[in-house]
Amino acid sequence: MFIRIVFLFSSRQLTTENASLLSNLKNHVEYLSNDKLEGRRTGTAGEKLAATYIAEEFRKIGLQPKGSDGFYQAFDVAEGREISTTTTLSLNGNNLVQGKDFFPLVYSGNGTINATPSISLMERGEPWFLNVADMLAENKSNPHFDVNGALVNKIKEMAGKGASALFVYNTSASEDGLKFDAKERTEPVSIPVVYISKDVAKKYFGDASSSVKITGTIQVVEKKRSGSNVVGYIDNGAVNTIILGAHFDHLGYGEDHNSRHTGTDRQIHNGADDNASGTAALIELARMLKSSSLKNNNYLFIGFSGEELGLYGSKYFTQNPTINLANVNFMINMDMVGRLNDSSRTLTVGGYGTSPSWGELYNRTGKDKLFEAAQYRFDSSGTGPSDHTSFYVKNIPVLFYFTGLHTDYHKPSDDFDKINYNGQSAIVRHIYSLLQATDKMNTKFPFAKTREAQTMSTARFSVTLGIMPDYTYNGAGVRADGVSDGKPAQKAGLKAGDVITAIGDYKVNSMETYMQTLGKFKKGDKTTVNYKRGDQSLVATIEFYETHFGQ
Ligand SMILES: [Zn+2]
Repeated sequence: MFIRIVFLFSSRQLTTENASLLSNLKNHVEYLSNDKLEGRRTGTAGEKLAATYIAEEFRKIGLQPKGSDGFYQAFDVAEGREISTTTTLSLNGNNLVQGKDFFPLVYSGNGTINATPSISLMERGEPWFLNVADMLAENKSNPHFDVNGALVNKIKEMAGKGASALFVYNTSASEDGLKFDAKERTEPVSIPVVYISKDVAKKYFGDASSSVKITGTIQVVEKKRSGSNVVGYIDNGAVNTIILGAHFDHLGYGEDHNSRHTGTDRQIHNGADDNASGTAALIELARMLKSSSLKNNNYLFIGFSGEELGLYGSKYFTQNPTINLANVNFMINMDMVGRLNDSSRTLTVGGYGTSPSWGELYNRTGKDKLFEAAQYRFDSSGTGPSDHTSFYVKNIPVLFYFTGLHTDYHKPSDDFDKINYNGQSAIVRHIYSLLQATDKMNTKFPFAKTREAQTMSTARFSVTLGIMPDYTYNGAGVRADGVSDGKPAQKAGLKAGDVITAIGDYKVNSMETYMQTLGKFKKGDKTTVNYKRGDQSLVATIEFYETHFGQ
C-alpha cells in the first residue's frame, strides 16, 4: 500500500512537471510565432520583440547576462552597397534622374565633380569618358566575355593614368547588361564611376570634340542592418562550459527571398517550427538546468539571430565569444524540433561523428539509458544548414536536433497549431537526460572531424569544389571557411581562409556568381581556380571528378 501511494505520488509529480513544461513550451511558441512579431526577420521590430521576450525569460529564470550589452549581442548583417540619396548629377546645367538617366556602378568611388572636360581629350585630373561599344564589338564571338570584369580592369587602368571620374556609356546596338548590383563585391575603385543611359549619352557626348559641364556628388555606401543574439549563463564555477543554442529569427514577409511561398500576396511567415520550437526548448532547458544539481559544467544559452540569412549570429558569436571557446565542452543546437509526428516519430541527431562520446552516450542500456524521445536517425556530419556549423568549424563537438522537413517549411503556414507539443517536450527531456549523463561523466568531450554534409544549397549542382563557403564574407570573391578532405579544392591545394576570385574564365565576386559558375561545369571537367591567400594571388588546376549526389 505504501509503495502504491509513493508510486502514485511520484507519477503524479511527474505529470505535473510535464504539464508545466508542456504549457510553457506552448506559451513560448505561441508568443514567438504570433502575427504581432511579423515573422521575426533579422533587423526588424519583430526580431527585437522576440529578443526582448527571450532576454526577459532568461532574466526571470535567473540566468546571468552574458552578451556584450546585458543579455544582447548585436551584430551587423552586410547587405552589399546602395546608392546614397545624396547622389546627384547634372550635365550642362540639366539635372539628371538617378536610376533612369544615370547610376553609379556598385564599385564606384565617392566624390564631388565640378568640371568641364572635353570628351575626347583625357587630361590628367579631369573626368574621362569610356564608350563600351568597342569592347563589346571586339569580344562579340567570345561567349565567356565578362563585360563587367573587363570594365573594372579598364577603370582601374584609367584611374591610374589620372582620370578624376569616369563616365561609362554604350553607343552600340549590343546590350552591355550593366546595372547596379548591390550584392556584387568588386573592391571599390578610387574615383566616381557613373553609367550614363543611351539617350543621355547621345545628347551630351555625341560630339566627341565638344566639352560638357559636369557637376554632382556620387555616394555609394555600405548597406547594413543590425541583428542581436541573446546570451544567458549559468556559472557553476566549473572548468568547462556546455553551449545550448537555437535561432529565433525567421523570414518576416519573405523579403530576403528565402520563402517557399508561391503566391504573390504579402504574408507573414510565423516560423512556429522554424524556429520558435527550438527557442522554446532552449528557454525550458535553461529553467531545468538552473534549478538542477548538474554542476560539473557551466551552461551558456544562446538565442541566435541572422540564421536564415546565413548563420550570421552564430558566426558572430564564435568570432566574438563572450566566454573562452577553448573551454567549451560541446554545443547543442535545436532547429525545428516541433514536428515529431510529421516525420514518423523520427528525430534527426546530427553531429554524431563530431565526438566519440556521442556514441558512448547513445549506446547506453539499462538504467543509464537516455530518456527516449523517438527513433533516432543519426547523421555524423558536423556541418549542415544551421548554427552548429559555426561551432564545428571551431573544432567544438556538436549535436543538432531536428524533427525533419515538412510541407509548411519556409511557408506562411508554419503555424503554432501544427506543433506537436508532446513530442517537443519529450525532446527537451531527452536532451536533459543527455546532460545528466554528461554531468556524471565529468570529462571534456574529445573532438573529431567528420565528412562533409550535403546541404540543400549545394544539392542543385552536379559538381562541387568541396569548400564550406563563408556566407558572411563581405570582400570580393568567395572565402572558404573550411575545405573538405578528399574533395577537388583540397586536392588542388586550397586551404581554409583562401578567397576564390575566378573559376576558369568566370570571375567570382559574390556567392551568386560562385553558384552560377559552378552550374556551368559538369563531372570530369578540368579548369583553373584563381584564389587569394593573404596578399598572394594563386592559381590551381582543379578537376571536378565526382558528383555531389549519393554521397
Ligand atoms: Zn529556416
